[in-house]
Amino acid sequence: MQTIDRGSAGSARVAIVGGIHGDEPAGVRIVERLAEELPPLDPNDDRVESDGLVRLILANEPAIAAETRYTDADLNRAFPGDADSDEYERALAPRLAAELEEFDAVLALHTSHSAPPPFAIFSDLTESVRRTVTGLPVDHVVDASGLRSTTLDSTIPHTVSIEVGRQGSEAAVEFGHEACRAFLRVHGAIADEPPTFSETVVVKGDEEVPKGGGEPRVHFANFEAIPEGAVFAEDDVYTHRVEEPGLVPILASEEGYDDIFGMYGRVTGALRPPGEGDLRVYPRDDSEGTGESDGARNGADR
Ligand SMILES: [Zn+2]
Repeated sequence: MQTIDRGSAGSARVAIVGGIHGDEPAGVRIVERLAEELPPLDPNDDRVESDGLVRLILANEPAIAAETRYTDADLNRAFPGDADSDEYERALAPRLAAELEEFDAVLALHTSHSAPPPFAIFSDLTESVRRTVTGLPVDHVVDASGLRSTTLDSTIPHTVSIEVGRQGSEAAVEFGHEACRAFLRVHGAIADEPPTFSETVVVKGDEEVPKGGGEPRVHFANFEAIPEGAVFAEDDVYTHRVEEPGLVPILASEEGYDDIFGMYGRVTGALRPPGEGDLRVYPRDDSEGTGESDGARNGADR
């Protein structure tokens, strides 16, 4: 694990974590770029506990070097981990958690084999998470609270994960870098321009869609409404016909995963920007679509 601390324009302690999966180079490149852009911590500064900080982390260095997702176990399925484990990632998990203790906001970078658009993921909705999610340039956020409890975002408070694009693509690096700067901006860590917020559609992760064998075919893209009766995905073993309304795919891909086509999700509503209503998911009503909630309505500072 490599930790790089940088100066902040504000008082919040925020962190960005790349390289959780060693075969996702975008996160590594984004962290390296941010390390060059952000000012160093001034060692002569009379720092007190309350001073702001940007912590940049490259999490799984052996896996990054080997260009594999992990060496012994998937780090993002290994939390809270075990310091005494013989498995590298299980022992790494508590060390990474310690580096992120008492941070005000954490952003974990990922890429996938799924088609764009990029989206965010949270497990535990806090004010900080709301600020991050509605401040990121994404239209959708996956509520993963009903899914696995062994991920970084389900273990470390105030963490949001972001899928920045296709694994290995330049677009993922560019988008992810832009997303990180938006994250730093809404938490006051950089002051290059006013932060902007927008309402974000919440999709609750429902269940994984198993894959069998043979030629995999996926017929719907991420967050695209699957009509009742339509086939979401199929291969020689499975034909996944959707028999109920309101399902959308999450992380849909033909070749991305050995055992699943992705997940079914359900739109539960929307998160509103900080200062616009309560900390909860608001059901979406049909009067929406005026575009009023988009853009720079809330130049909140902190
Ligand atoms: Zn990943």
